[in-house]
Amino acid sequence: MKKVIFFTDEKNLHNALEDFDIENFSDKKVPVKLHMGELKNKYYPKPNFVKLIIDELKRVRTYPYLLDTTVAYSGLRHSKTGYEKLAKIHGFTLKKIGCNVIIDNTGVPVTIENRKYDVAEHLYNSTHIFALSHVKGHVATGMGGAIKNFGMGGVTKETKIRMHHGSRPIYHKDACIYCGICAEVCPFNALKVKKDVWKHNIKSCFGCGVCVDACKNNALTYKDVDFQYALACSAKACVQNKKVIYLNEVKRIAKSCDCDPFADPIICPDIGYLVSDDPVAIDKASLDLINDIKKDVFEIENNISPLKQIKYGEEIGLGSSSYRLIEI
Ligand code: SF4
Ligand code: SF4
Repeated sequence: MKKVIFFTDEKNLHNALEDFDIENFSDKKVPVKLHMGELKNKYYPKPNFVKLIIDELKRVRTYPYLLDTTVAYSGLRHSKTGYEKLAKIHGFTLKKIGCNVIIDNTGVPVTIENRKYDVAEHLYNSTHIFALSHVKGHVATGMGGAIKNFGMGGVTKETKIRMHHGSRPIYHKDACIYCGICAEVCPFNALKVKKDVWKHNIKSCFGCGVCVDACKNNALTYKDVDFQYALACSAKACVQNKKVIYLNEVKRIAKSCDCDPFADPIICPDIGYLVSDDPVAIDKASLDLINDIKKDVFEIENNISPLKQIKYGEEIGLGSSSYRLIEI
């Protein structure tokens, strides 16, 4: 059973990290994997809190730096220079947080369960990693936490695109009853169903896989594989055989991701912080705490169960969903 520390006061950060043997990170270059938020998003982790983590890592004589990767969609985060500019706009500067910011857009191929994932070079070359993940909703995965921080955020944009394309629907006409449910749940209006016509606009399709999950008649299957399965495998490609401390910030829990400029509304009150050495345990604990307050809120809001990434993560040996929550 994995240990997950829970606390609500930032003053307890130091004690929580001690519990996970942060001293072991001494003398290492440590990437702090962080999604620094899309332009106009309000909910990404704030520089003041990130600085507390950087200070803790420096206290044990590590050489920390913030790390993220470029993204597949258009906007500032699409390019290295654009993302560097955005990091400054959001307050992630050497002056404010006390360490450098590196945006990686090169990858090293790692094969997990017979599929290739190009892991950000800085992650691949690190032995010790700190993961700061903001827990919030997500259009394709229900929830985004530690698994998503690496599964999508730790790989190159080519791998991100491949994962999304692999989750697009393949249509099986004979099984379709034209109920229209797939079109109702599609977050990108990429499907139209009328009488006996099913239409897929591939240009609008984000490859979230929500329609496939929603069709209970087996009329849709994934082009390659369930997006949340690919996500768990990709996360494993990033962190396997490495020493990682995971911190989940379970606050400002919006319906949508930090990559969404319009992530509102907030769907659950602030809860606190979790620390663990297991990405599956910490995401399951985060989800359970949220469900205790707002049952199934991610599934209701985003039409997809976040439990799938946790189940797949456990199946492929990324971590364990069974945990012991210790409050400090
Ligand atoms: S949900 Fe399935 S059965 Fe219903 S219209 Fe869509 S593909 Fe057809
Ligand atoms: S994969 Fe997502 S975006 Fe594409 S059609 Fe299905 S629900 Fe819509």
